[in-house]
Amino acid sequence: MSSKYSIGLIDLNEAVDRIVAGIAPIGRTEVVDLSSANGRVAAQDVDASVSLPPFPSSAMDGYALRSADVAANPPYELEIIGQSLAGHPFPSSPADGEAIRIFTGAAMPPGTDTVVVQEDCAATGDRVRIDKAVNPGDNVRDEGHDVRQGDPIVKSGQQLNPFSIGWLAASGHGSIKVRARPRVAVFSTGDELRDPGSALEPGQIYESNRPMLRALLEPMPVEVVDLGRIADDPDKTLQAMQAASVQAEAMITTGGVSVGEADFVADAVASLGSLEIWRMNIKPGKPFAFGRVGGCLFFGLPGNPVSAAITYLMVARPALARLCGAESSSAPIALARLSDPISHKPGREEFQRGRMWVSESETKVSVTGDQSSNRLATFNQANCLIRIPKETGALKPGDEVEVLPLFGLV
Ligand code: AMP
Ligand code: MG
Repeated sequence: MSSKYSIGLIDLNEAVDRIVAGIAPIGRTEVVDLSSANGRVAAQDVDASVSLPPFPSSAMDGYALRSADVAANPPYELEIIGQSLAGHPFPSSPADGEAIRIFTGAAMPPGTDTVVVQEDCAATGDRVRIDKAVNPGDNVRDEGHDVRQGDPIVKSGQQLNPFSIGWLAASGHGSIKVRARPRVAVFSTGDELRDPGSALEPGQIYESNRPMLRALLEPMPVEVVDLGRIADDPDKTLQAMQAASVQAEAMITTGGVSVGEADFVADAVASLGSLEIWRMNIKPGKPFAFGRVGGCLFFGLPGNPVSAAITYLMVARPALARLCGAESSSAPIALARLSDPISHKPGREEFQRGRMWVSESETKVSVTGDQSSNRLATFNQANCLIRIPKETGALKPGDEVEVLPLFGLV
């Protein structure tokens, strides 16, 4: 407890558990059309309103018949009395010795129970010869083969994806009640920062964190309020934070959160609200801060772009998912075999950027070069993060490591 705010260094998993446990999901809900439901969090359980398919249907192109009519030993010949197309059912039952031409997805005509695929038949005019033995029920999708009316389709708290949307549509739902999108204010700090495209004076750099954060937030069901860039000035920081706290359910800042002369962000939170976490035991991302200003959550990401990205992904993202009402948002984890050595001293959990691939039935991973926290270049070509637990020492090629695929996170 030797820090400036008497807040001790905290491990990542403890920070996430504590932050997530203290967040109540947004209470507001709204009904949205399926066309704008992707990525939203369901605020209701949804059951299938119809069975899918709603009627027994053919799984193949072929001939529908009554299996009881045909002899056990092929070949046999039947008369084709009509056809059943998808959307155009054949209305009546065939008599003994009759078959109906049928196509994939078409309703089974009354009385028929089996489809013989066309490849096993030879049709001439209105007669078809069947060369193979028929098993009752062949190539028929029963009513409710995919889903039965009343089956659960979506659970409250589930984040909708393209497949749940397809399934909702298939089972008859054109809209769904979802959680409202919490507003997330974003601002960056730093006198040295300029907009990309403008001219740089000596000592200045182009700002990358805010555009990157906005893009990281895109797949989240939140509404981003971009408050721009704030100068390294205590009063301006206070004003920006106050403005964010009345406009948004959460705010994310970058920079100004460590112990430098021009770091005013944590002070502002401590004076306007409460600073609950300050400095985390991870690399990169140690100068992370979390707190509250009024009812607004505060995530203070470090200024170094890689640190900002990692702390967003590992802490802010699961916390925001909880705010959005999502049930579970843990990052997918796989195991891979290192192809490079990694020097690491026990003490701090570390996330390096890696590239994973499969070769000879094994997942391998390599490190994307110098891992300094200013180097966004390490994300170039990266498709995963390599997690190095805090207890781990140096790693050598061939060691097994945990990897977090980035496509599951961004
Ligand atoms: P700070 O945490 O404010 O001390 O910033 C740490 C480092 O990150 C410094 O080199 C800053 O110039 C850099 N940095 C801070 N904010 C940004 C930003 N929004 N975009 C790019 N680099 C930044
Ligand atoms: Mg700064």
